[in-house]
Amino acid sequence: MRRPVVAGNWKMNLTRGAAVDLVRSLAASLGPSDSSASVEIVVCPPYVYLEAVGQAVQGTSLRLGAQNVSDQPSGAFTGEISTAMLIDLGCQYVIVGHSERRTLMGETDEIVNRKVLAALAAGLTPIVCVGELLEERQRGQTSAVIRKQFEGSLAGISGEQMARIVIAYEPVWAIGTGQVATPAQAEEVHLDLRSLLRSRYNAAVADAVRIQYGGSVKADNAAELMGQADIDGALVGGASLKVGDFLAIVAAAGGH
Ligand code: PEP
Repeated sequence: MRRPVVAGNWKMNLTRGAAVDLVRSLAASLGPSDSSASVEIVVCPPYVYLEAVGQAVQGTSLRLGAQNVSDQPSGAFTGEISTAMLIDLGCQYVIVGHSERRTLMGETDEIVNRKVLAALAAGLTPIVCVGELLEERQRGQTSAVIRKQFEGSLAGISGEQMARIVIAYEPVWAIGTGQVATPAQAEEVHLDLRSLLRSRYNAAVADAVRIQYGGSVKADNAAELMGQADIDGALVGGASLKVGDFLAIVAAAGGH
């Protein structure tokens, strides 16, 4: 049984006060920390609010994640943030290879791979994003694109490390567009990912890895998506900024 994980990617939104208010409202509805809760819930604020949000999540069932990380341990990398800094602030998760970083910041599979390895070495759980562009889907290349991203972004990962990674399937055309993948479209790619895991590792690893769906997940479409056998939670952008919507998605994933 895989425990679903729902993560809110707040992107470059909110003020410090609004970020703390949001997490306090979530925590008040979710109740106190409960390690047996059926869904793992993660919030990923902008770097500059990690400390304040990290303090607000203490003693609650929410976990803290970052939206990005450097692949370098320290040194002359102006503007970058290391894994050790994230751990210092209480992060347990980090999103790696989000499509906005791949397309807007030029992150390649090789860069994503180095970040995944750095995150694992530090004890962070990477949420590794993969997903095809609309043109790639229209040309029937979805499976090939996902395979290439899987192989490149997750190169050199042992089976034991793989079981600690969360994969997020996020079709680029569905992110922030309101155009959600149908449950069947999403499940098809999740099954492809699971068979890639089975071929590279074994059935136990394929069964253990949690694969989230992301891309316009909302309160009213979450239940159908989460009802698919191979969808183990969601990576949520826009709807994670609204308390009621995010809680409804958590509930659809099987929690609270
Ligand atoms: C995301 O940014 O990962 C995302 C899925 O965004 P949205 O939910 O707004 O489509």
